[in-house]
Amino acid sequence: MISSINLDSAISNYAVFGNPISHSKSPLIHSLFAKQTGITLKYQAIKVPTGEFNEYITTFAQQNGKGLNVTVPFKGDAFSTCTTLTERAKLSASVNTIWFGEQNQIFGDTTDGKGLLNDLTVNQGLALKQKSILVLGAGGSVRAILEPLCEQKPSKIVIANRTVSKAEELVNIFSHCADIQASSYDDLTDLNQSFDLIINGTSLSLTGQLPNIPPSAINHNTSCYDLMYSDKDTIFMTWAKEQGAINVMDGLGMLVEQAAEAFLIWHDVLPETKPIIEFIRNESN
Ligand code: NDP
Repeated sequence: MISSINLDSAISNYAVFGNPISHSKSPLIHSLFAKQTGITLKYQAIKVPTGEFNEYITTFAQQNGKGLNVTVPFKGDAFSTCTTLTERAKLSASVNTIWFGEQNQIFGDTTDGKGLLNDLTVNQGLALKQKSILVLGAGGSVRAILEPLCEQKPSKIVIANRTVSKAEELVNIFSHCADIQASSYDDLTDLNQSFDLIINGTSLSLTGQLPNIPPSAINHNTSCYDLMYSDKDTIFMTWAKEQGAINVMDGLGMLVEQAAEAFLIWHDVLPETKPIIEFIRNESN
């Protein structure tokens, strides 16, 4: 018996699994979506101890839980546990949205990439066709965003990462869909090229550190996007503003958009995201 999984049998139950999880905005976002669409549900944040992901997911399903979001550090575990994966989850090797079938299937999808794309192209109004994109980092979230970025037909994508071999792995996976290359941070300096869009997909903002990116990567038309969201500007956002970037954004829009795509999978209704993004932004200020 796992005491932190305490579902309400009278209504549909959803949750986000992660560790740590107390900071998660997913319960707030899904309860706002539920209110907006008139759907009754319970959505809770559940802290899963390391190594116990499978036990938790089994208990959640046995208690008739309907759907799960998965966040750090379990997206890879979720990918391994799901019995049926969407194509984009397979390509990303990552799952952030789970639901259960009648024959004990565990379905997995990733909505992170679509979430970022919706935020960039719809909310921020950025057109990515024929634009040059620099992606910093080559971890799980970068792998999840590359396919949707490639689909926008940018002129080129450069992936810079501390561990260059990981960037090279991603280039091998996605080279069929874009002009894409791997780089070290030092080689970015030698490249001496500026980009239309720079996406910080490293986890460095979490610890207040900047990737070792040369100022030459930014010109006065460069947009900068930090996947991380925090109540105040991240160090990357501050740096981008100081370098004169035209447009500097954080990951709140992506967070709400990926949640909306998960809500669509579970409830067959796509909630309106704009008022939710505004609500959370105002609440934090
Ligand atoms: P991962 O742990 O999978 O990847 C971390 C990346 O950061 C790797 O590329 C790693 O490089 C790099 N990195 C870590 N430490 C350093 C360092 N000291 N110097 C240089 N590079 C470093 O993380 P995720 O991909 O899951 O998450 C990345 C960010 O995206 C996080 O800030 C997370 O909060 C955010 N995110 C936001 C979402 C949203 O909805 N807004 C959704 C998902 C993620 P290396 O390969 O060399 O180790």
